[in-house]
Amino acid sequence: MPASPPPSRPRIPGSGLAKGLAVTLRTMTRKTVTAQYPDVQPELPPRSRGVIALFEENCTVCMLCARECPDWCIYIDSHKETVPATTPGGRERSRNVLDRFAIDFSLCMYCGICIEVCPFDALFWSPEFEYAETDILELTHERDKLREWMWTVPEPPALDPGAEEPKEIAAARKTAEKLEAQRAQEAQQNQKEAEGEE
Ligand code: SF4
Ligand code: SF4
Repeated sequence: MPASPPPSRPRIPGSGLAKGLAVTLRTMTRKTVTAQYPDVQPELPPRSRGVIALFEENCTVCMLCARECPDWCIYIDSHKETVPATTPGGRERSRNVLDRFAIDFSLCMYCGICIEVCPFDALFWSPEFEYAETDILELTHERDKLREWMWTVPEPPALDPGAEEPKEIAAARKTAEKLEAQRAQEAQQNQKEAEGEE
């Protein structure tokens, strides 16, 4: 003989409404987590992948970023220029000059490979993300626009205490000290000459 179902508990009239109100009251007193964008800008982590910025001075047109981009959305044009020898009897050199650098953000999948592979620190992530366009063609950012994004790139994080100073900073400091010493020497010499004339 099949078992009979357990008797259902009698429903208290209005209990569903009371439960709903309890939930409403509970959430009303909690701190809100909704950000009122665009009136309030979101606080993004410093390594957010918003847009790619180009520091043109560092780019040697090695083409590595364009070759490694899985979406083929980096467009680079360049030409070669001959640089005359700096010393008598020296050899001329040739260097690449950048004519065009563009990234099509309608194709980009924000993988960051181009930034990782650039051997000369010419590409950086910026957390800026407000560049939606109504015309898809406008999503191809040419070099001037990519350079403008550099202003939105956050400063690199501070070094750990006791970390070795990067060699670029050490070299820049050495050059600055040398120039300072040179300037001081020139000023001293000028002063001596002026005193001699008196
Ligand atoms: S982030 Fe990735 S997809 Fe976008 S340009 Fe760089 S390599 Fe290409
Ligand atoms: S990898 Fe870097 S240096 Fe080479 S072309 Fe790209 S941005 Fe320029």
